[in-house]
Amino acid sequence: MALHPRRETPTVMIGGVAVGSSHPVVVQSMTNTDTADAASTIKQVVSLARAGSELVRVTVNNEDAAKALPHIAEGLEKLGVHVPIIGDFHYNGHILLTKYPDCAKALAKYRINPGNCSIGRKDDDNFRAMIEVAVKNQKPVRIGVNWGSLDQALLTKMMDENSRQAEPLDARDVTMEAMIVSALQSAEMAQKYGLRKDQIILSAKVSGVQDLLDVYRALARRCDFALHLGLTEAGMGAKGIVASAAGLSSLLLEGIGDTIRVSLTPAPGGDRSEEVKVAQQILQSLGIRSFTPQVTACPGCGRTTSTFFQEMAQQIQGYTRDKMPEWKLRYAGVEEMKLAVMGCVVNGPGESKHANIGISLPGTFEEPKAPVYVDGRLFTTLKGDAIVAEFIKILDDYVDSHYSRKETAETVKA
Ligand code: SF4
Repeated sequence: MALHPRRETPTVMIGGVAVGSSHPVVVQSMTNTDTADAASTIKQVVSLARAGSELVRVTVNNEDAAKALPHIAEGLEKLGVHVPIIGDFHYNGHILLTKYPDCAKALAKYRINPGNCSIGRKDDDNFRAMIEVAVKNQKPVRIGVNWGSLDQALLTKMMDENSRQAEPLDARDVTMEAMIVSALQSAEMAQKYGLRKDQIILSAKVSGVQDLLDVYRALARRCDFALHLGLTEAGMGAKGIVASAAGLSSLLLEGIGDTIRVSLTPAPGGDRSEEVKVAQQILQSLGIRSFTPQVTACPGCGRTTSTFFQEMAQQIQGYTRDKMPEWKLRYAGVEEMKLAVMGCVVNGPGESKHANIGISLPGTFEEPKAPVYVDGRLFTTLKGDAIVAEFIKILDDYVDSHYSRKETAETVKA
């Protein structure tokens, strides 16, 4: 499926980051530290930002978390990390945002869940209080509906109305519609209380891919707010990655989505920034944004029985990832470079010629030599034990000679 033009939305400014159809799709993530533990939260925000997260959300679940926010913002500033911090509020956001004005000021955006900000109440005072703080501080808001915490009063009302219809919809369809109505009605109320359209982002998260497609397609048809995409509770490992990629990619290809988060459950002790890498990879695989040079590697087969080829592909991918922070500062466009590491002569030379630099390793029973192609032409042939080191030298020289040097404050300092 070809990439559709982005659906048009206003531009929402979150700190210094622009979100909306005339800007690149923004990658965001969320910490899983106790926000009240400012030191741990700062450490994780730094790690997520260094991995490429352009916005980072933290939960603001209690008074200690709200008190920690200004210290977190200050700590990040001291470290020179300027990523905008978003506060995630549930149940008590109206209390925390009004009682802790420094917290409200330190945050670049508030996430409000309309399903749990007026629990047990008939009015919308809590929602209104949060919007009024946002208006006062000129902060944008994400109205984030989630089917796990959908406004139960609204859902019950819509289920009742549906049951009185001659041909009622099934419960799943009513639930999807309730999510959309909850998001749209809340956005309308937020505007009534003073937020501008370019200060509102909507999301409607579900955990099933088909549901995600249905709910976002409908939301995209029925409003022009900027949209935050994400599959909620995507899960662990391959399941979470594949489900997120399937859901987000389909929508992004249709031009739907202005900022994305991949909600992976990390393995115990695992790296939280994995979700950032997956989000970047989704965008890069679709050709929507480039973040790091891509290594094309064949899967290997019986024609290449040694593990040398797998190790080399891994080393090259790791090398480019490790070098990217430095390359990004020095060389414009280097993130679009394509590399190929191929296992044998069958597809090796052909695939290598399509890359900026490609190497075709000797398969079993082939002559022990590895032709290297640069910009589609045979450049040299490597042999012996130092193939990886020699290939990396060719790669470094290529980067230095093919990508123009940036003159930035960082490179001048370096
Ligand atoms: S390029 Fe060669 S080693 Fe790699 S999968 Fe194809 S045939 Fe197998």
